[in-house]
Amino acid sequence: MDFEEIRRMDEAYHADTFSRLPVAFVGGKNATLFGADGKEYTDFGAGIAVNVFGVNDEEWKNAVIDQLNRVQHVSNYYYSEPQARLAQLLCERTGARRTFFANSGAEANECAFKAARKYSHEKYGAGRHKIVSLKNSFHGRTLFTLTATGQDHFHRYFGPFVSGVESADCNMAAIKKAAGEDACAVVIECVQGESGVTALDRNFVTALTAYCKENDILLIADEVQTGNGRTGKLFAYEHYGIQPDIVTTAKGLAGGLPIGACLFFDKAEYALSKGDHGSTFGGNPVCCAAACNVLSRLTDEFLLEVQGKSEYMRAKLRGMDGVKEVTGLGLMIGISVNSNAHALMEKCLQKGLLILTAHERLRIVPPLTITKREMDEGLTILSEVLKG
Ligand SMILES: *Cc1c(COP(=O)(O)O)cnc(C)c1O
Repeated sequence: MDFEEIRRMDEAYHADTFSRLPVAFVGGKNATLFGADGKEYTDFGAGIAVNVFGVNDEEWKNAVIDQLNRVQHVSNYYYSEPQARLAQLLCERTGARRTFFANSGAEANECAFKAARKYSHEKYGAGRHKIVSLKNSFHGRTLFTLTATGQDHFHRYFGPFVSGVESADCNMAAIKKAAGEDACAVVIECVQGESGVTALDRNFVTALTAYCKENDILLIADEVQTGNGRTGKLFAYEHYGIQPDIVTTAKGLAGGLPIGACLFFDKAEYALSKGDHGSTFGGNPVCCAAACNVLSRLTDEFLLEVQGKSEYMRAKLRGMDGVKEVTGLGLMIGISVNSNAHALMEKCLQKGLLILTAHERLRIVPPLTITKREMDEGLTILSEVLKG
């Protein structure tokens, strides 16, 4: 099917929720995608930080196909080996005690918020239920996670919202005011992704962690985007030397198949018990087999390579005309630019580079396996586009 046919069908039948760019992809290798238009594109977006090994990775595909040759879905009424193995891998790698599997980042956060409320309810009774989030955060599109998303423009039309959720500025006075006496959890993204790739201030995160601990408020790290090697560590909270009580992740975890995970550490271990939460597809064996492959390959050596690629790209970006600031951590890169980021993204596409935006910044979240050649190809296009 040629691109115009695909576009016509989509525009006729899909809900008009996405401002799509004019390209469809039919194949590729690693960080190079083939368009239905016959052109090649360098991929600095990885399907929004999802395709950690790019596309058509042989080992990842074999793990998926191997599981497809066994059984594609098992109800959570029964046991399944890939799910048990993934739970063990995640716990062993992070020190978490337990995991729960969902299908997306929003669902992983939904699980974390429910678990925090239950934890507090069991210990302190009803009423201590407030979830505090940060301004400029993004936690998902379900009503609970949308309420926690601290950006007003997401909140049009959809009220009434979930009560007992409040967003605070990134300082301790604001957090304490929002928390009051009835907070059960504070949720943070160590690097705020959707709102511009902004790493949180280290002193703030340290103070927040101590405050949560003193007051038995659960600290939830939303690592949906920052997790799974994206920042050069397995999880971004490791850069901050803190230990959250709950960690959620999704995007890159299964390298391109839908999954979300909620990790419960020490005191949150028994927050959820039988009947408290569930999911039909959550922890699907094919997705879990894919995630096991991803996690087993995110070795210390691999993560060091990610850090090296990050340094390489950041140095090149800082030297480019039109770049005001380079933000974020690891291969989660924000670029403040002199002109309109959305227009730059469209120009990059025309020249064969897929890049993302995050508010007024450009955002780069490439496959972690991106090669030097692929980085150079993309950076050359970006530098030409920035010159105008
Ligand atoms: C993408 C994202 C989500 C939502 O994930 P979905 O899989 O789209 O539901 C939540 N939190 C953060 C930090 C994200 O980047």
